[in-house]
Amino acid sequence: MTVADFDPFELDRETRAVRGGHVRSNFGENAEAIFLTSGFVYETAEAAEARFNGEQPGYVYSRYGNPTISVFEKRLAEIEGAEHCYGTGSGMSAAWTGLISALRAGDHVIAARALFGSNVVIFQQFLPRFGIETTLVDGTDPAQWQAALRPNTKLLFLETPSNPTLELIDIRLIADLAHAHGAKLMVDNALASPIVQRPITLGADIVMYSATKHIDGQGRCLGGAILSTKAFLETEFQPFLRHTGPALSPFNAWVLAKGLETISLRVERSAATALTLAQQIEDHKAVRRALYPFLKSHPQHDIALKQMDSGGTLIAFDLGTRAAAFAFLNALEVIDISNNLGDAKSLATHPVTTTHRAVAAEDRARTGITEGLVRLSVGLESAKDLGHDIIRALDAAAKIG
Ligand SMILES: *Cc1c(COP(=O)(O)O)cnc(C)c1O
Repeated sequence: MTVADFDPFELDRETRAVRGGHVRSNFGENAEAIFLTSGFVYETAEAAEARFNGEQPGYVYSRYGNPTISVFEKRLAEIEGAEHCYGTGSGMSAAWTGLISALRAGDHVIAARALFGSNVVIFQQFLPRFGIETTLVDGTDPAQWQAALRPNTKLLFLETPSNPTLELIDIRLIADLAHAHGAKLMVDNALASPIVQRPITLGADIVMYSATKHIDGQGRCLGGAILSTKAFLETEFQPFLRHTGPALSPFNAWVLAKGLETISLRVERSAATALTLAQQIEDHKAVRRALYPFLKSHPQHDIALKQMDSGGTLIAFDLGTRAAAFAFLNALEVIDISNNLGDAKSLATHPVTTTHRAVAAEDRARTGITEGLVRLSVGLESAKDLGHDIIRALDAAAKIG
């Protein structure tokens, strides 16, 4: 039984994050049990038959579903305000499985150009291989989305804030544009997390997560999720998931379900620290440009206020040259150099040489991924210690110029 099933009142997100999806076994354990089992057994041959033909509810095989994976799925759906959710083995398996199960050969899909590196590869290389046409547009310009629509456009895809330049796209506006054309909108919400922004409530049809990021939040395991209506997920997504096997491990599902219990505390604290740090970074002489959605100087600050509960945990800033960016990274003592994000540990990245290497130089230039750009994922260390570390490293970068 889930919280949603038995409570007649609207429960808050924080309550659902702790209680949602929890089903106790007959031992009455407090913490969620881990069902590390690949298969299930049946009392009788008739029961097995009934389970397989869908007359009797229950699990048959963990590639199809598993009690621990269900806890994670139900909990995330309740936090997001989505009808239904499926867990996947990684964020990219959620992206690929979501796209390929929603699309058919001959369909056309439009995506905002500012995307996570592997998403770009899917749109530019893999989808066209299966006869799916793709167009990349400047996602911040509604006229470009409109102009790219074709009779066979079935899906629009975007990421907001984008990785790593934190560009924002008005989810409601693009959802309305998609729906007026009979198409669906899919949003990669990994950077925001469901604590900062809930695209389904803003009109998106399909939402994907890399649960590896804020949902785990402590750098332990990979995972992903797709959320949408029960109708779409059961008719399109579930058959693909079952028969092609991008399943989430029950152990990882358990880690992620426990991660959801603390996600609001973690993300809210990191976002509060990030706002303080963004202001300090913006004021430093080594910084050409600082990007953070809740800074007044952000080019789409009005969209941030409209659809985000906070500015999130990521800050991007341009130090002018690769040498200055490297001097900054190498001078850090508390913050680690890493390509991950959404972690308890603050992490700094140089996208051009790491996460966005696979993106063509021309596309990097168009989306503002410059040689001097640094992406900072703000964790849970004290704002004072992080501030000291960052200012000292920016001073080192200022000497390079
Ligand atoms: C990390 C990330 C992904 C990929 O997720 P994995 O769990 O690493 O497969 C997809 N989209 C965004 C925005 C990400 O940050």
